Amino acid sequence: MSVTLLALPYDAGALAPHLSRASVQLHHAHHHRIFAETVRTAVTGTALERASLEDIIVETAGRQAQAGLFQAAAETWNHNFYFRSMRPGGGAPSGLLAKMIDRRFGGFDGFSRAFVAAATGLIGSGWAWLVVERGSLAIRTTANSDTPIAFGETPLLGLDLWEHAYVLDHQGRRADYVRAFLKSLANWEFAGDNLDRLLDQAAVPMRASFAETTRR
Ligand code: MN
Repeated sequence: MSVTLLALPYDAGALAPHLSRASVQLHHAHHHRIFAETVRTAVTGTALERASLEDIIVETAGRQAQAGLFQAAAETWNHNFYFRSMRPGGGAPSGLLAKMIDRRFGGFDGFSRAFVAAATGLIGSGWAWLVVERGSLAIRTTANSDTPIAFGETPLLGLDLWEHAYVLDHQGRRADYVRAFLKSLANWEFAGDNLDRLLDQAAVPMRASFAETTRR
């Protein structure tokens, strides 16, 4: 069985004061754990029992009869990705990713403004993402439990916009939470690694075309 709850890659208190130990512990040990256990229970004894989380998501996406399993699998994947999208102290994009952000958004400030606007513009619960879609950087939001990997997009960084993620530490003020994420929590090394992995898997011309794009 390949569906597992990701261990937090840092101490639960390490993201304070932006996200408190109590908030991170509740989020990880309660919300996240329930989704992972739901997936495990739902696939046991079925054809998907040995499938990866990614395969379960792709297999069940858009199928009404499997909406519950899709939701739990997507939430598990999204949370695994979200907790790795943060690290104590945050940082800044570097290398090729930084050049791509400059090229696409006119710099990190432009990217930050667009990310905050997208995240605060999402009505209700969901997720904000920096993704690669058809060879280009894009900011996406997905509603509720939806996930970019169901649409063939490759996330580089993801942020949980469900109120449970920020109600304790930001009194439900989503914009404050998103700004704190960008300024003090975002793990750009993780984002860069995700970009590298995509480029390594993709056809060689993709890396060449990115390099070309950023040289202009
Ligand atoms: Mn959550």
